[in-house]
Amino acid sequence: MDLLEYQGKQLFARHGLAVSPGRAVATVDEALAAADEVGYPVVVKAQVLIGGRGKAGGVKLAADADEVREHAGNILGMDIRGHTVHTLWIEHASDIATEYYASVLLDRSAKQPLVMFSTEGGVEIEQIAKETPERLVRSHVDSLKGLDSEQALRIATEGGAEEDVRQGVADALVALYEVWDAEDATLAEINPLIVTPDRQVRALDAKVSLDGNALYRHPENQDLSDTANEDPIERRAKEQGVQYVKLDGDIGILGNGAGLVMSTLDVVARAGGSPANFLDAGGGSDAEKIKQAVDLILANDAVKAVLFNIFGGITRCDEVAKGLIAAFEEIRPSVPFVVRLDGTNDEAGRALLADAALPNVHPARTMNEAAEMVVALAAGREEAKA
Ligand code: GDP
Ligand code: MN
Repeated sequence: MDLLEYQGKQLFARHGLAVSPGRAVATVDEALAAADEVGYPVVVKAQVLIGGRGKAGGVKLAADADEVREHAGNILGMDIRGHTVHTLWIEHASDIATEYYASVLLDRSAKQPLVMFSTEGGVEIEQIAKETPERLVRSHVDSLKGLDSEQALRIATEGGAEEDVRQGVADALVALYEVWDAEDATLAEINPLIVTPDRQVRALDAKVSLDGNALYRHPENQDLSDTANEDPIERRAKEQGVQYVKLDGDIGILGNGAGLVMSTLDVVARAGGSPANFLDAGGGSDAEKIKQAVDLILANDAVKAVLFNIFGGITRCDEVAKGLIAAFEEIRPSVPFVVRLDGTNDEAGRALLADAALPNVHPARTMNEAAEMVVALAAGREEAKA
């Protein structure tokens, strides 16, 4: 779960990492009021879940109200590589002497947290790693001990932080590690971490990703995901405790178990189709859960056909069939469904479906057959219905 810059900065502030005062706003008038509150000059910053906003024209300094009006007006509604700007962050502008880079992430291959620091800030980490790898310090942390100030100071020193701000950088690294650890983040990045002319160290940008599966431990972070940036169907799915990811295609997919759903996506893609979503109804799905899942899939208008791929283990195929029948009674879908039921109680499930004779529901025996049928149906090819 990726956070917007200003949300990341809220977490930074909570852990004592210095950030500039600012306000999140949604209109030009609010931007003007916010600028008065935080004090001129200000920076007007697009809040979208993608980096490189500066280069795209989504970060502008404003010396007075006229400039705030101009920049806020231009940036609101701007499209930054597919991300529309709905929110601005109005921040009191900083004077910058130097731009550093700092991040904490999980190094999966080393099975340890990794702290990275470089004095080549302001450029993207991929570029730093490629062009000046010798100026990028990578240091693993013992996750039981955490990052102590000695190790942090070594990182700052080795990275070449200017001497008078080494302690300040080390303190920032310790705070950043604490954000990563205490908030269950998968990534906490500051680029740039600046040094001001009066030698203060401050986070000028924030890129934080939280582990969505650990969110239950952080009720105070719950509403960070409650933003306009989240797909409304994904949000509903989350509320219902269903794993749902929206994709770009037109074939709705429902399976039980993440592995089965992933291979279903592959098989559909190989048959020439394009999945509209990932939906894992989970193990032991009952009729009610299946009904909710159908509802979620059909909430996406792009869906032209649906593939139900169930392998019954704990999940019983007759329960799935009952759920599907109940869903059809209530929702009356206008798109065709292809249903493959295999495993526990599959014969009973298929018999229930046959008896119900639901309109536009096509049984399939195998996963490949099901994929080919659903791709043909989504493309509107009649022969698939034979
Ligand atoms: P990004 O382009 O999405 O990474 O957005 P950033 O928040 O990192 O801003 C991009 C660049 O704008 C920074 O690297 C800075 O050079 C500049 N910038 C951002 N905030 C300020 C500020 O308060 N003062 C000054 N002088 N420059 C800023
Ligand atoms: Mn940045």
